[in-house]
Amino acid sequence: MGYDERFGLRATVGEDDSLHDECGVFGVWAPGRDVARITYFGLHALQHRGQESAGIAVGNGKSVLVRKDRGLVSQVFTDADLSALSGKAAIGHVRYGTAGGGGFDAAQPHFSLIDDVTIALAHNGTLVNTSGVRRELVQMGVPFRSETDSEVACELIGYFTKKSGHLRVGIRHAMQMIEGGYAMVLLRENALYAFRDPNGIRPLVIGALGTEGWVVASETCALDIVGATFVRDVRPGEIVRISDGGILSEQGIEPRPEAQCIFEDVYFSRPDTVVRGRSVYSMRYEMGRQLAREAPVDADLVIGVPDSGMPPAEGFASQSGIPFGEGLIKNRYVARTFIQPTQEMREMGVRMKLNALSDNVAGRRVVMVDDSIVRGTTSKQIVRMLKEAGATEVHVRINCPEVVWPCFYGIDTDVQRQLISANKGVDEVRDYIGADSLAFLSLEGLRRCVPECGYCDACYTGRYPVRIPEAFSAGKFLDGFAPTFPYDDGGEASVPPVADVRMDAPRD
Ligand code: SF4
Repeated sequence: MGYDERFGLRATVGEDDSLHDECGVFGVWAPGRDVARITYFGLHALQHRGQESAGIAVGNGKSVLVRKDRGLVSQVFTDADLSALSGKAAIGHVRYGTAGGGGFDAAQPHFSLIDDVTIALAHNGTLVNTSGVRRELVQMGVPFRSETDSEVACELIGYFTKKSGHLRVGIRHAMQMIEGGYAMVLLRENALYAFRDPNGIRPLVIGALGTEGWVVASETCALDIVGATFVRDVRPGEIVRISDGGILSEQGIEPRPEAQCIFEDVYFSRPDTVVRGRSVYSMRYEMGRQLAREAPVDADLVIGVPDSGMPPAEGFASQSGIPFGEGLIKNRYVARTFIQPTQEMREMGVRMKLNALSDNVAGRRVVMVDDSIVRGTTSKQIVRMLKEAGATEVHVRINCPEVVWPCFYGIDTDVQRQLISANKGVDEVRDYIGADSLAFLSLEGLRRCVPECGYCDACYTGRYPVRIPEAFSAGKFLDGFAPTFPYDDGGEASVPPVADVRMDAPRD
């Protein structure tokens, strides 16, 4: 239930039954081109990663201009806005926020003044250790406009840049202090920077705009829309700097064991995005095939829950020999709704976006393939909808394992009690959602369907690649659940006070 924002009631309801990524980022360096419009189109391609707010900043050689607001990309920018944002480079952001609330001030890019230089920062991910850093910066007189971790990163970079006189040194020192999952793009008047957490949890890719410039984006689908060709990923811990002098790379922080978010492949990324040479579509198709091998069922029709359940449903059908068909029709024109969180309104929210196709499902035993079950409330409603439309049996198949553990690296499920599979076994979940049978893809099966690399799979296993400070995770795990941190020595990461950090010799 990822990129389609079907159940996008969360902003005011707080009970939305789907996982949400916390953002998408885009950046372009292309002097002589309309960088604001290129960014606008890039953000359109990333709209599935966040629908609460959108923003663009441009650097015109003298200063940085920012336009941002709540709403979809198409709602935030008018033609006149884009025309007013001329420059040689730009960054953009779409936000689905959890930490730090919503509203204009949480919209990105954030900007910070470093003496007479303005920087703008756009961030995808979550930082787990910024509360202490924020307190210190506030004590030092740094003003904050929001409660977001992204603004802390922006101000921290500004602080170290002031202290060292060099922006890359500022970024490097900030990277050495912040922990979590992050992919960031940063703009000053004459340069674009892109950098990524040392485990590579959140995605970030580089593309070439012919010989005219460079693009960085959360996913390759945003390169395609602006006519850029994929060059490579931004490496874990790397800082990329693009300016009139060309493209430069340096290792901002030593890479740690790779831990790319596996949920990007299962559900967040767009199917036409390519990861390590493979389309997300093809991976999801394989997940469906593997699911049919692991959890076969006697049925008449395989349907997918639009949009992200469709490729695995096709794969399930091809492997099982059961015909694939449409069973749920999605209304693609439903905007975000800001309605009261009553049960009636929640149910209406699902029905506004999905309806069962009784012509296809009536009198049939249906396999319904979906990408995840979070709270279970939406699955329950869809199963009921299919039965009311005449399906004689509904067998639910999920193309990933049970989501049992909270995520602290950029997804909005950071409280374990929200997760139905943390509280109930498979049979209990099946009973709750009213399905005739329920099965999840195994972790081993999932790993067979995605490229070979290091993955974070903490939401299935509780093995977290980055230690979660107790102050951040307090109250977020259920009793009896003990997360593990396979890559560290068991101690809390010690971060020196901001004011005590010694500046090394500037390298730029
Ligand atoms: S915990 Fe899950 S959703 Fe979060 S980064 Fe890891 S794999 Fe992705």
